[in-house]
Amino acid sequence: MISIKTFDTLVVGAGIAGLQTALDLGDQGYKVAVLEKDPSIGGKMIRLSKVFPTLDCASCITTPKMSSAAHHKNITLFTYCSLRALNRDGRGVKASVVQNARYVDTEKCIGCRKCEYACPVYVEDKEQGGFSGKKAISIPFSNAIPQLPVLDTDHCMLCGRCEKVCPTDAIDYLQEPGEFEIQAKTAVVTTGFELLPKEENVPFGKGRIPNVIDSLQMERLLAPHGPYNRVLRPSDGMEPDSIAYVQCAGSRDRQMGVSYCSRVCCMYAIKQAMLLSGSLPLADITIYYMDIRAFGKGYEQFYQNAKAMGIEFVKAKVGRIDAGEKGQALVRFERQDGSGIDTAGHDLVVLSMGMVPGWDPAGICPVSKDTDRFITSIKPKTSPVLTDMDCIFTAGAAAGPKDIVDTITESGSAAVEAAKFMSNSRTKESL
Ligand SMILES: Cc1cc2nc3c(=O)[nH]c(=O)nc-3n(C[C@H](O)[C@H](O)[C@H](O)COP(=O)(O)OP(=O)(O)OC[C@H]3O[C@@H](n4cnc5c(N)ncnc54)[C@H](O)[C@@H]3O)c2cc1C
Repeated sequence: MISIKTFDTLVVGAGIAGLQTALDLGDQGYKVAVLEKDPSIGGKMIRLSKVFPTLDCASCITTPKMSSAAHHKNITLFTYCSLRALNRDGRGVKASVVQNARYVDTEKCIGCRKCEYACPVYVEDKEQGGFSGKKAISIPFSNAIPQLPVLDTDHCMLCGRCEKVCPTDAIDYLQEPGEFEIQAKTAVVTTGFELLPKEENVPFGKGRIPNVIDSLQMERLLAPHGPYNRVLRPSDGMEPDSIAYVQCAGSRDRQMGVSYCSRVCCMYAIKQAMLLSGSLPLADITIYYMDIRAFGKGYEQFYQNAKAMGIEFVKAKVGRIDAGEKGQALVRFERQDGSGIDTAGHDLVVLSMGMVPGWDPAGICPVSKDTDRFITSIKPKTSPVLTDMDCIFTAGAAAGPKDIVDTITESGSAAVEAAKFMSNSRTKESL
């Protein structure tokens, strides 16, 4: 028998957009279910180092929101869940959900990490950009919510050490995925974005050239709880003397299938370059760019500050990157002032990869996508959170690339539209 859980709103995706929407609705008294596919809430923002344009610490802003959502009396979090179907049902929506197996009894686990310490198997830690290892049973990252481990069945040797040390007998090697349904009056899709994988970028080495990394990996190198606690070159642990950013690596590029501008790459590259010049004051930092799009409040000043700090901006289109000697990457670029083609060697190269949708609704939910594959907004100017399904709203990067400021604003708007929809339905019912 599949259990049915009833809420006012289902929020799909617990990045900053989903958390803000849930908090805005929860504070008004609505009962909100938040569904997240990852083992922890927080989305990309909890994985960032600092945020432009204020250079605030990202986890100092995100952790309180995560914790407020987790402790809110009107919000229920469902993490490590897969959304199988989301459809209209009568006046609301019905979602079919699979609770993936953590192989840990979440009722019994107290988050003590004894299982993690006892586990003898190290696996690649994707949360740290793949630069360091973690145990085959582990809590995803230090400030994850919930503080519950997941066992990686691809690498576990079933040695039994985690089971032996667990003080509450929470390890369950035979745990099966569970199924349940969520019935709600409205849903908000906040499934965010992913970076285009660098493995798809043939001219830039398909992710196989040492020391060519993507921008989210650089966020981890710069983060206070990063893999090395300082910025080191991944191939040999050297402190890089020369770091380059390649802008529009995947965006504004029809060959890569991303013809649009990803909007935040100019600003995050400038931010990262400023942070790098703080941690590696002697390093040369170059940004190869086509145009700088510093569109938000205070953003142009931020760009001017970076120039004043000595970061070199080279207006050029990078055509290819090859492996050079001593771990360097050779960047071949054409200057936009017509002065020709050059090649420069850098110790570390960061690709500002394009942003693509974090979720494809095809076969799961009949909500429409645009030609860019992000969720369609039927009133992009007057109410960008409205989709073509009247009880389903969207916010944040699920509807298109955007920065945190715009994401937060849209999340508030989605909460208002969802609340309006619920109050209108109530009025119709009482007539
Ligand atoms: C390298 C980099 C640096 C950046 N730096 C800054 C900065 O300094 N300042 C700034 O303003 N912006 C910055 N940004 C942009 C910022 O990351 C986004 O604005 C923000 O993360 C958008 O939040 P979101 O909640 O919409 O999406 P996300 O953060 O992507 O969250 C979406 C969530 O939905 C979940 N999800 C996806 N599909 C499903 C599904 N089917 N079911 C359940 N859950 C699902 C995901 O797991 C994720 O948790 C940066 C972006 C990058 C790439």
